[in-house]
Amino acid sequence: MIGTRTVYHEPTDIAAAVDLLAANSTAMVIGGGTITMPRLSDGQWHPEHLVDTTALGLDRIHVEYDGTVTIGAAVTYSKLSAAASAVPGLLGLVASGITGGPQIRNQATIGGAACYANPASDIPTALVALDARLTLHGHQGVRTVAASDFFQAPFRTSAHRAELLTGIAIPAGATANPFGYIKLKRSESSWPLAVCAARLPDPTRCTLVIGAATPTPITIDLALDPEIEHLAPEQTAAVRDHIDATIDTWWFDELGTAAYRRHIAGVAATRALDQALRRARAQGGDQ
Ligand SMILES: Cc1cc2nc3c(=O)[nH]c(=O)nc-3n(C[C@H](O)[C@H](O)[C@H](O)COP(=O)(O)OP(=O)(O)OC[C@H]3O[C@@H](n4cnc5c(N)ncnc54)[C@H](O)[C@@H]3O)c2cc1C
Repeated sequence: MIGTRTVYHEPTDIAAAVDLLAANSTAMVIGGGTITMPRLSDGQWHPEHLVDTTALGLDRIHVEYDGTVTIGAAVTYSKLSAAASAVPGLLGLVASGITGGPQIRNQATIGGAACYANPASDIPTALVALDARLTLHGHQGVRTVAASDFFQAPFRTSAHRAELLTGIAIPAGATANPFGYIKLKRSESSWPLAVCAARLPDPTRCTLVIGAATPTPITIDLALDPEIEHLAPEQTAAVRDHIDATIDTWWFDELGTAAYRRHIAGVAATRALDQALRRARAQGGDQ
């Protein structure tokens, strides 16, 4: 049962939503509500006002003239999957692999996932890997923040209390690069223990972003031999050792210890890199 007497608001424009958030110190945004509603029911969160994003027109995906993909904060995972031709392949893959079944995929929003900033999740890593920029509206105005600066700590972002995330922009370059994405989890319905997104900006470089195993997404840049087609066993071992030596803080929760996550993060990373190399070969073959 929800113990707090909460006033529900469904504003139809962003300025009204921002006013509501600024006027009430315990006001909270609600996107899909898949996190918020259970927290209200179990009494962990008790906002006096809920500001729903549903009627704000933030459920659209738009490809700009320069190829930048802009995704509204209220776009659901299902909508991301359905718009496969418009959204970056990496994001489409992440969205279709979200566990929790159709209920979660139809209801949960990309904005809610970003703002919740659960380390053991997919969206923070995907957004950092894609060089995404997040647009925040507040009483002080509008600002954009790079995804790499947005995720500051477990369950903490650089959004201020009364700011509303309205959209996420992904630059065209990031969309076109060959990529790989691996998510390791205990069972079909469980949250991830380690994820890794690999992106190849050019044949000599790889950007690995590791998440779920770390408190916030960690980016590691690797030099690549342009002739490499897949990772040989000694290269796999070298990449894993490099990750192990580079990352010093590992995330843990009831699903997995820090030591276990540390162990499997390297597995996720090398598989993601191999997948990206395979995609690069396939793209090369298409040309
Ligand atoms: C069974 C289950 C399985 C799941 N599996 C996965 C998984 O495999 N991978 C994964 O990544 N995630 C997984 N999730 C988490 C899922 O991604 C989150 O439930 C979801 O992202 C939250 O989105 P929402 O729109 O429902 O957020 P809400 O519950 O609406 O909001 C979450 C938080 O974000 C804030 N917020 C929401 N929208 C905005 C906004 N526009 N501006 C500012 N603040 C905002 C809210 O105030 C709240 O603090 C799972 C969840 C469940 C319940």
